[in-house]
Amino acid sequence: MRVIFLDLDKTLLGEDYSPEPAKEFIGSLKKAGFEIIINSSKTRAEQEYYRRAWKLGEPFIVENGSAVFMPHGYFPFTVEGVRKGSYTVIELGERYGRIKATLDSLAGRYGLKYYGNSTPEEVMAFTGLPEELVPLAFRREYSETLFRWSREGFTEELEAKGLRAVRGSRFINVIGNTDKGKAALVILNLYSRLGEVESYALGDGENDFPLFEVVDRAFIVGNLSHAKAKNISSPDELLEVIE
Ligand code: MG
Repeated sequence: MRVIFLDLDKTLLGEDYSPEPAKEFIGSLKKAGFEIIINSSKTRAEQEYYRRAWKLGEPFIVENGSAVFMPHGYFPFTVEGVRKGSYTVIELGERYGRIKATLDSLAGRYGLKYYGNSTPEEVMAFTGLPEELVPLAFRREYSETLFRWSREGFTEELEAKGLRAVRGSRFINVIGNTDKGKAALVILNLYSRLGEVESYALGDGENDFPLFEVVDRAFIVGNLSHAKAKNISSPDELLEVIE
């Protein structure tokens, strides 16, 4: 079985965050028989929007490796986890409440702006998110996104408090002690109980590097370089190398 992990921002989504341009690519992966796992810094609510648009039923990884969401009964064996709505959830990261409280204590000194201290209008200006997607981005469970800071030094303070600041393709994400690779391993271990797994990853940012480490074949869209990842100019190029 082949499993592919896909980043969203700047990998499958462009400046307008529309799911449309990637539809055909997703369709090609389905035709090739891939299990398609979104692995993004986006929230559960945002990823549900893209999963609906692309008609995906697979598990998915939210907020930069913070939690693995699996539709109930997706795997033909019992998976230990928390029940949330129609999902079984394996939580690896930190609660949003604690992350926000920590950032609130640093915001004044470092000029930090993030969802928790921004209005919907400010978020639209920082992110370029279309109005209808903004409420989905506000539904945070495990992470914050720093849109702006006036000086450096907060990363060290966050680390001293057990949190991590990870650079994504657009902003800095603040999470617990996890990453996209740790969460991907959880899913790969589950799939491996069904048979032999060949794993792929497609990303564009530094926050995708831990993911590249845990898969068999990694692809990076754009110019960043990673020892294990093959650079490609667009996702479609990946389709040329999978036979
Ligand atoms: Mg990205």
